[in-house]
Amino acid sequence: MEFNSAKIKELGIFINEIIEIGAVKLNENLEEVGVFSSTIKPCYTKKLNSYFKKLTHINDKDLKNSESFNEVIEKFIKWCDCDENTVFLSWSDTDLHVFVENFTQLLKCENVYFIKKYADLQKYIMSFVKTENNNQISLSAAAEKFSLSTDDFSAHRATDDSRVCEALFQKTFDEKKFLNFIRNTQEPLFYRRLVFKPHIISDLKKANIDKKQLSYTCPVCKEKIKFDGKFNAKLKAFCEIKQCKNCKNKIVATFRFKQNFDSVHISKRIKKYIKKKPQENS
Ligand SMILES: [Zn+2]
Repeated sequence: MEFNSAKIKELGIFINEIIEIGAVKLNENLEEVGVFSSTIKPCYTKKLNSYFKKLTHINDKDLKNSESFNEVIEKFIKWCDCDENTVFLSWSDTDLHVFVENFTQLLKCENVYFIKKYADLQKYIMSFVKTENNNQISLSAAAEKFSLSTDDFSAHRATDDSRVCEALFQKTFDEKKFLNFIRNTQEPLFYRRLVFKPHIISDLKKANIDKKQLSYTCPVCKEKIKFDGKFNAKLKAFCEIKQCKNCKNKIVATFRFKQNFDSVHISKRIKKYIKKKPQENS
């Protein structure tokens, strides 16, 4: 999909408004059996910015003459003709996020109901590729890694991007491996999990944290110390400096709590307090 950030004035929020959908359909032998391509007349986007126009070669006139999101999505759903066994693929789950946004705002429907099974092609392809720090790679970089000539595809139009995805998928297809990447979107928590944003916890009372976690051991004498740190907004962590009752050393403890969808991730840093030497004025 191609989308454009636009403001919904009445709500004072921004939406990634879909202005083009492109897709290819494969049968069970991974042969192409259909192509979908359509631009969409936007509701909120007034004018495309020039960078976007250059990147996609889509212009304002193209969009003006297009059908609305409602009309295009109806045709798209018909064309997809998804049943319980159809797997919907996209390069990173961003497209699925954007679908949720557009379905919510334009169709007043929070679930992308026509997709029953979903797989993130980027994640699947990443399982074949080693990168530094497990960094994600772009679609064109992936194409290069698998020696696909991108000259055959003019990038940054939705259909061409899906053609690159198709070629990558055909080249790497490993049924056993791929099965592990398929998600059932019918699961009750699927969309809540998808749109959940992990965040740093700043108020421990509101978080569900096991009390046993709120302690640490003195790095000098191994005495157990209770943690009562206060939140430091600059460090985005809870901190305290406390004297160990046993060895009398001062200890610096820093705890960071990150709220994930179904758990809290805690990282602790404990060290002996060393008084900094006063800096000389130069
Ligand atoms: Zn101690």
